[in-house]
Amino acid sequence: MSAPLPSDPATDPSFSDLLETRPTLTMDVRDGLLFEGVPLHVIAAAVGTPCWITGAKTLRRRARALKMAFEARDLPVSMHFAMKSQDHQATLTLLRQCGYGVDIVSGGEMQRALHAGISPSGIVFSGVGKSDAELRAAIEHDIAQINVESVEELYRLDEIARACGRVARAALRVNPDVDADTHDKISTGRAGDKFGIEYRRAVTLYGEAASLKNVRLVGLAVHLGSQMLTAEPFRKGYARLADMVREIRAAGHTVEAVDCGGGLGIRYRDEIAPSPDMLAGVIAETLGDLNVRLSIEPGRWLSAPTGILLSRVIETKAGSPESGPNFVVIDAAMNDLARPSLYESWHGILPVAPTALHAPTKLWDIVGPVCESSDIFARDRALPATIKRGDLTVLLDTGAYGSVMSSTYNSRPFAAQVLVDNGKWDIIRQRQSVAELIASETVPDWLTASRNNNG
Ligand SMILES: *Cc1c(COP(=O)(O)O)cnc(C)c1O
Repeated sequence: MSAPLPSDPATDPSFSDLLETRPTLTMDVRDGLLFEGVPLHVIAAAVGTPCWITGAKTLRRRARALKMAFEARDLPVSMHFAMKSQDHQATLTLLRQCGYGVDIVSGGEMQRALHAGISPSGIVFSGVGKSDAELRAAIEHDIAQINVESVEELYRLDEIARACGRVARAALRVNPDVDADTHDKISTGRAGDKFGIEYRRAVTLYGEAASLKNVRLVGLAVHLGSQMLTAEPFRKGYARLADMVREIRAAGHTVEAVDCGGGLGIRYRDEIAPSPDMLAGVIAETLGDLNVRLSIEPGRWLSAPTGILLSRVIETKAGSPESGPNFVVIDAAMNDLARPSLYESWHGILPVAPTALHAPTKLWDIVGPVCESSDIFARDRALPATIKRGDLTVLLDTGAYGSVMSSTYNSRPFAAQVLVDNGKWDIIRQRQSVAELIASETVPDWLTASRNNNG
């Protein structure tokens, strides 16, 4: 069982540290915490809690900053947002307006992307297990590129494309065997990970694939891991990729495109987050002179800081005087935000009330109501000593791998979602009702018929 990283009150960022590094959150003496200028207590009163909130202005600003880092180096790179991190129609629409395509990992994501108006020419399909139906749909929509993860998948893609009477554009996703130096569960580019084709095999396979009639290999793809904080693993991974491109070309084949994947990390606690300029620099240095079409697939870096999870305190529970922790039970839980229980991740937590920022604090364990010991958001976290039932809190940086990972465990319906945009706000997903949860369930007649009927 995993539990969230214990907070360390000595080194945890203070409330003002958290605010200073997140300029979209401000404290108003009357209204308390504002997100992009909207008082959070207003949203809580109108929509209820728990509630996911996405900042449109923040997302737009990050999308532009990332593009500009590459433009500043005259390095044309196409952007495919990894929509598994945040797949709401409003998010996709906004990123489409900023000139982004998407990286998808399922047929469902393809439907979502098309529904948001993203052109098939802006869609790249990654993922270690694409079904026949998913590959067929991708071929029929003529999406930009399918990143093939194994020899077997390459030949299956060729067969399916033949049956469709089409030629599929594909890239080989290679496993460069580089340790991303991140959490074990989000590392993807090591030799033992399930992703990609090993280096040697990829070079020979590239040659073999030239004889396939219904697949056209356009290049190579890589994705090293997630929440990467230093340049080194990127540099190593991309340098190996560049070596492969040269080797494949030396063997007489054409490599037109290199897809550099995602993985750029952000600051959750006190990490030194890499800048988009670091990524642009490393890509320019390692792949810039290869004369290939370059693309990246950022997820977390774009979406994580654009989201917060607003919740209300249900109860506080005082620990025993000798030892026991003090608990704050909030109405958000691991079924809403799974990351702390899944990855031991640290998320900033701020009180919303105007006076709370300067109130004396004590250490609390922040937990949800779900009946699992791992339903803990933080241990030993400094929050106002007087925090009480009914108070509002926000979990920070929940825009990536947040709402998309929610479940309805404990019959807790999906939470509402709100979009704020520089003072404006709107509900973008209604809170699910329990009736909706039950609606698709049926009980067979024979179960309720008299027992005699079944002998
Ligand atoms: C998850 C994933 C990404 C995005 O990763 P982030 O760490 O969120 O940037 C990009 N490409 C592929 C293939 C992925 O699986």
